[in-house]
Amino acid sequence: MEKFKYKRILLKVSGEALGLKDDLYNNQKIDKVCQQIKTLINNQVEVALVIGGGNIWRGAKQGSAVGLDRINADYMGMLATIMNALVLESKLKTLGLNVIVQSALEVNKVAEPYYYKKAISRLEKGYVVIFAGGTGYPYFTTDTTAALRAAEIKADVILMAKNGVDGVYDQDPLVHKNATRFNSLSYQDITNKNLKVMDLTASTMSMEANLDILVFDINKPDNIIKAAQGKAVSTIISNKKKKG
Ligand code: UDP
Repeated sequence: MEKFKYKRILLKVSGEALGLKDDLYNNQKIDKVCQQIKTLINNQVEVALVIGGGNIWRGAKQGSAVGLDRINADYMGMLATIMNALVLESKLKTLGLNVIVQSALEVNKVAEPYYYKKAISRLEKGYVVIFAGGTGYPYFTTDTTAALRAAEIKADVILMAKNGVDGVYDQDPLVHKNATRFNSLSYQDITNKNLKVMDLTASTMSMEANLDILVFDINKPDNIIKAAQGKAVSTIISNKKKKG
């Protein structure tokens, strides 16, 4: 196995990565993600996970369509992330890994409350630590959760998994065939070029905390592993813009 570039990673996986169009959960997709996490753990990479909820419920968007207020709609989104965390916990455990779920919303029967010091000590012991429940507050996203948790646990990088897009482009690559991918970007570039990578709160927080974010396509074979090795086709976002 080739060398890994990062020692402690925060992997952000959106809910979409766990399901297929008509299926909330797709066994094959989940298995591929979990097998790759196992490879990382077996190679002494520390893995924390932030999971989204979009396969179940997209807070504001779906909430307003059925006339819900924003706050309840967002709490429902956070609850969705807890369901996804439990799915990943079960799957990772069947692969023989040690896992803990920590939730920002209190659901003490199924997850520990979020406590960053314990998260760090479990990471050091080789546990996969899954952060569920988003930030615990409405009006945020799981991208912002990823930035917050990465800062708290002092992750070396956020591996921001995208579904079917291998980085940040100058225009939507799914619409424009001649779209060009950036190899690296600064947070300033994202603002200046008005690039749609993550929401503004997540971007600002990542810049403030001086985080590196690697945007890559989770659907390509072994790409989580390659991302952790610094070998995936990707875009790296950081305060110090790299060459290229
Ligand atoms: N959410 C929230 N606060 C948070 C994180 C998430 O209110 O700190 C809600 C929000 O409604 C969001 C939903 O949970 O739409 C699901 O999260 P997200 O859209 O980030 O999931 P993903 O698109 O990554 O699957």
